[in-house]
Order: sequence, then structure tokens, then C-alpha cells
Amino acid sequence: MKVDKNKCIGCGACVSICPEIFELKDGKAVVKSKGECPDSVDACPVRAIIK
Ligand code: SF4
Repeated sequence: MKVDKNKCIGCGACVSICPEIFELKDGKAVVKSKGECPDSVDACPVRAIIK
């Protein structure tokens, strides 16, 4: 999983869905560990998450 920092608006949806993979840092989501979280791709309002 990857997060496009330029697109992320820090809504926290991905963190809510997969807290083991994403965390918020300085208002942006970052990937903290490897893994799959397909639901987050659709849940991101700005499509900032890349599989
Ligand atoms: S769901 Fe998308 S916009 Fe929201 S914090 Fe995650 S990457 Fe950023």
C-alpha cells in the first residue's frame, strides 16, 4: 500500500479501517507496516491510496 501525500487530506478514514497499516503523521496518512487493505482504496475520498 502507498499513500500519495499530495492528494491526502488527512481525513483518517484509512486509519479507521486498517489501523495496523496506516497512521496519521503531521496531518497526512503514512504507511507504517506492510500489508493489504483493499477497503481503504475505495474509502479514501480523494483516491490517494495506491494498492
Ligand atoms: S483515507 Fe485518504 S485522504 Fe483520508 S487519511 Fe487516508 S489517505 Fe488521507
